[in-house]
Amino acid sequence: MLKPAEKRAETVFDDFKTSYDKKQALVEANRCLFCSDAPCIKACPTSIDIPQFIRKIATDNVKASARTIFESNVLGMSCARVCPVETLCVGDCVYNEMGVPPIQIGKLQRYSTDKAFEEGWEFFEAGPDTGKSVALIGAGPASLAAAHELRRLGHACTIYEKRDYVGGLNTTGVAPYKLRADKSHQEVEWVLAIGGIDVKTGVEVGKDISWADLEKQHDAVFIGFGLGVDTKLGIPGEDLDGVHGAVDYIERFKLGEVSLDGVEHCVVVGGGNTAIDAVREVHGLGVPIVSIAYRGVEHKMSGYVHEWHAARTESIRGVWQVQPIAFEGEGKVTGVRCQCLDDDKKPIPGKEVTLPAQLALVAIGQAKLGELLSGLDGIEIERGRVIVDESGATGRKGFYAGGDCANGGKEVVNGVAEGKLAARSMHDYMMGGS
Ligand SMILES: Cc1cc2nc3c(=O)[nH]c(=O)nc-3n(C[C@H](O)[C@H](O)[C@H](O)COP(=O)(O)OP(=O)(O)OC[C@H]3O[C@@H](n4cnc5c(N)ncnc54)[C@H](O)[C@@H]3O)c2cc1C
Ligand code: SF4
Repeated sequence: MLKPAEKRAETVFDDFKTSYDKKQALVEANRCLFCSDAPCIKACPTSIDIPQFIRKIATDNVKASARTIFESNVLGMSCARVCPVETLCVGDCVYNEMGVPPIQIGKLQRYSTDKAFEEGWEFFEAGPDTGKSVALIGAGPASLAAAHELRRLGHACTIYEKRDYVGGLNTTGVAPYKLRADKSHQEVEWVLAIGGIDVKTGVEVGKDISWADLEKQHDAVFIGFGLGVDTKLGIPGEDLDGVHGAVDYIERFKLGEVSLDGVEHCVVVGGGNTAIDAVREVHGLGVPIVSIAYRGVEHKMSGYVHEWHAARTESIRGVWQVQPIAFEGEGKVTGVRCQCLDDDKKPIPGKEVTLPAQLALVAIGQAKLGELLSGLDGIEIERGRVIVDESGATGRKGFYAGGDCANGGKEVVNGVAEGKLAARSMHDYMMGGS
């Protein structure tokens, strides 16, 4: 399992949310009303007891606060940084209804979890050995959460990861101003400190090892392989130098260096969160003029409004109601030719515009990987998504799934919640023998 290299383009980014010092954390924690039936807990997919961990900060018992967080969410350190709290816990804090700024739950969570990492506090140990073993596919948040829970229950775990790096999109995809690759790697090491989780990197399941072999070698299988490569537009010029899938390009600069010499303009195609991340990142890497090109109107973008507003304050431009029809250039991209669209997203005859671009990123979604399982009887796939029941079980005995491959692409915290749920269900299955 490789550590991210020292020299990575992403290191030019600072944290976009600064950490609290002790005084600030105490002031903020003491604002909490410690609501009974707290809506912030219900808004958290991992059901962290938020008033409880905040109360422990207020009484200066940071270790107990961190324990409360990690008991519910072992990836609580990265979630404190990457969760869209504005739409989850913070968005549901009762203060919003009183016209008072909501409690900064993410920043308080970061205060406690960072301290736990700094101090090297350990909270967990493996359960007594059950003699059972589980294969987990992918070393992203879903599998890591599942493996940790399975170890607490005493099962041996082997994670198979096709990349040389661990952490999944937390390492390769999340915006560096939220979480850098080395911090994500550190979190994986922290999770693995429980012991008994064997991580085999550079092993692609379905290619380097068959599903049949996995099934023979293990008592249960957790599928946490996330999503696949960037979806292409399928228009002329997409193979030109300087045209990339956004997730692929983000991975390049998170794990290494990229050359932006001569890149004055960048166009990012799409209107979702990946597109918004990409424009901010490319601008932060030093490209002076960065635009998002979206086929709808600004207020109908699918990405988070708060993230787009942040992008706008960084001078990112929006080009609305356009559909790319070709990447122009010889050898290298020089522009993105777009068809202009009306309010119903229909082409306006004869109206085209070419946006200059020496770098163009396509952020219109990622492939679903369900077809990798097509040879396995009982597993149901719907438009590439692995279908699971409320316990995380697929239709094949002993096979469970969670995270992006099952939910179609949500957030890190959803992957953690689903991985943990599936781990408990696998435990019942293996111990009950049903
Ligand atoms: C650009 C981008 C930015 C994001 N930003 C945020 C954010 O700010 N906040 C947030 O909460 N969420 C964010 N997300 C979403 C979040 O990263 C995912 O929801 C989360 O990582 C899903 O976890 P997972 O474990 O299901 O999958 P992944 O993190 O994708 O991990 C899957 C792992 O499986 C491996 N794998 C795939 N196929 C195989 C195979 N055949 N054999 C072995 N290994 C395999 C992959 O290499 C990968 O490491 C972002 C997503 C993207 C694309
Ligand atoms: S809703 Fe807000 S005030 Fe109430 S417990 Fe949660 S964070 Fe505290």
